[in-house]
Amino acid sequence: MAAPKVAVVGAGVIGLSTALCITEACPSCSVTVLSDQFSPNTTSDVAAGMLIPHTYPGTPIHVQKQWFKETFTFLFAISNSPEASEAGIHLVSGWQVFKNTPKEELPFWSDVVLGFRPMSEAELQKFPQHRFGQAFTTLKCDCPPYLLWLEKRLKATGVQMHTRKVTDLWDLHSEYNVVVNCAGIGAHQLVGDEKLFPVRGQVLKVHAPWVKNFIRDGDGLTYVYPGIHRVTLGGTREKGSWSLSPDPGTTKDIFDRCCSLEPSLRGAQDIEVKVGLRPSRRCVRLQREVLSRGGVKLLVVHNYGHGAGGFSVQRGTAKEAARLVGECIATLPGSSSRAKL
Ligand code: FAD
Repeated sequence: MAAPKVAVVGAGVIGLSTALCITEACPSCSVTVLSDQFSPNTTSDVAAGMLIPHTYPGTPIHVQKQWFKETFTFLFAISNSPEASEAGIHLVSGWQVFKNTPKEELPFWSDVVLGFRPMSEAELQKFPQHRFGQAFTTLKCDCPPYLLWLEKRLKATGVQMHTRKVTDLWDLHSEYNVVVNCAGIGAHQLVGDEKLFPVRGQVLKVHAPWVKNFIRDGDGLTYVYPGIHRVTLGGTREKGSWSLSPDPGTTKDIFDRCCSLEPSLRGAQDIEVKVGLRPSRRCVRLQREVLSRGGVKLLVVHNYGHGAGGFSVQRGTAKEAARLVGECIATLPGSSSRAKL
């Protein structure tokens, strides 16, 4: 049998991570990434890229923990290698603070991040409006550099990248054996998924190199996440809004909220405003589907709907998608189960 041909639709963090896991699990596959946008024009470019999981109500916690752990382990190894600065991956320590003690004092991911502990009274003095807090060290991806690093790795293994808008997955059936749908919020139109909705997020990227620690309000709305070059200040969560236009009133509100957590930000300079649409769903859609028309079949694997946590679970969900691709390949006529899955 000729090398199985796999198309990955989408070049955000999920599409690129999935393409990488497919090349690792099935080196004999010919993989092509098709996308209407590449970095720096994806939602993934707007993200803060912090590894703090978002909870998916429709997915068992042990599965979410596994996805997060696999992602943390993968990125930790990069952060601890000579590739770290090019890949934009670094460790960052800081605090998650709460106005009231949360019901769950120990989140499910507390033993995956490093050094998780309750904050001391002395540390809490930095946050006079907050009564409880957690200190830990996690990883952060600087998003555009990380996406470019993934693209470079893929090209080095022979993956083709083409700019193409796919209006119907079926259009790919004559060219590819398996199609992987990593279209993010684009899947709403591409596969008509009504369970997928946008949660608009506006953030500011500022120059404030003296800010070294992350600060996240436990409500998840206000955060200060220092990256290698810029600090991301957030944010908003506007369910159902498709608007990509920055709102000046929201910019001022975000800035004021962040300054109340970290007053030194009043001296921040060079403020850039970015907006992205989180591809949100009760659970990530990670499953196989067989499309059929006139007796002809197209094998599809879906991997989209990562909402507010795509960077945090990218590797875990990509590995599972690659495993599903392997299952599809094993069903192809003449296959001797090429994928090592
Ligand atoms: P995208 O990045 O949107 O990629 C989808 C790709 O599919 C794009 O390349 C697009 O061009 C392509 N595409 C779509 N439709 C088609 C089509 N029909 N044909 C061809 N190509 C198509 N997550 C974290 O874990 N940590 C964070 O700190 C964090 N911060 C965030 C802050 C903000 C403000 C926002 C908006 C999100 C944040 N997220 C964070 C969430 C994270 O950004 C998303 O979960 C993640 O980017 C989703 O990645 P994706 O690849 O599925 O989507």
